[in-house]
Amino acid sequence: MLIKENLERNDLDGIVTCKNANALLHESHFQAVDLDPFGSPSTYLSAASRSARQYLFITATDTAPLCGAHFMSGVRKYLAVPLRTTYHREMGARILLGLAARELARLDRSMQPLLTHVTDHYVRVYLALKNGARAADRCLESLGYVEHCQSCGSFSLLREPRPIGRCSHCSAKTSLAGPLWLGGIQDSEAIRSAMTWDELPRRGLKILAQCAEEIDAPMYYDHHAICERLSMTPGKIDLAIERLKERGFKASRTHFYGLGIKTDARMADVEAAINPS
Ligand SMILES: [Zn+2]
Repeated sequence: MLIKENLERNDLDGIVTCKNANALLHESHFQAVDLDPFGSPSTYLSAASRSARQYLFITATDTAPLCGAHFMSGVRKYLAVPLRTTYHREMGARILLGLAARELARLDRSMQPLLTHVTDHYVRVYLALKNGARAADRCLESLGYVEHCQSCGSFSLLREPRPIGRCSHCSAKTSLAGPLWLGGIQDSEAIRSAMTWDELPRRGLKILAQCAEEIDAPMYYDHHAICERLSMTPGKIDLAIERLKERGFKASRTHFYGLGIKTDARMADVEAAINPS
């Protein structure tokens, strides 16, 4: 009723229905589907993947299962093993993207993430969709695993679930998370074009600007945690990022976490950039 009143008040046309979303999505196709349910979107993903022609947007507020805080719930809902790590916010986003890629692949469809962000307590992804079995095969190649060391925060990306079992940096035992999406998560051109929209609220513009500037490398390092482990007072995070770039690595800050460093460098090079002496 309130939605109808709002439509009238804003002089907009629209159909409002109280139908079960899964039934509606199976009956009809829409140019864009925006899935923003109470609780996990995972039970609607299959129907939404079928219904959306061009765009699929998903909001997940169940960050505890996605990010590894509720382990078995994450496994059941997202068919993936989550891990509680320093980069758990990005891990949650990539587990959601991984499930979306698999749901779409079952229908010979593929996705390209345009924008991915984790703000407050929700994950939000914007996907452009395509039909075709070949593109779906290529899309599945972006799925993989993360082998993580809880001792030093080092991680490596794997295509197959065959972990080495020991950290290459500190030799501690590692854990495995996945399957999850290891492909690109930000399309900076699409994001910059969205930034030109006049009516964008200030906070939205800030999130977009941060996402557009992030390098597209999976996960990130925790600047303060590394400083603590190296028993040093944290210096400026931007200085460490500049040093990484000078040494030929890609590096940037990340909207996922204020003290995060996104880079394609390994832990030893990140430590050297933080503590060059
Ligand atoms: Zn380690």
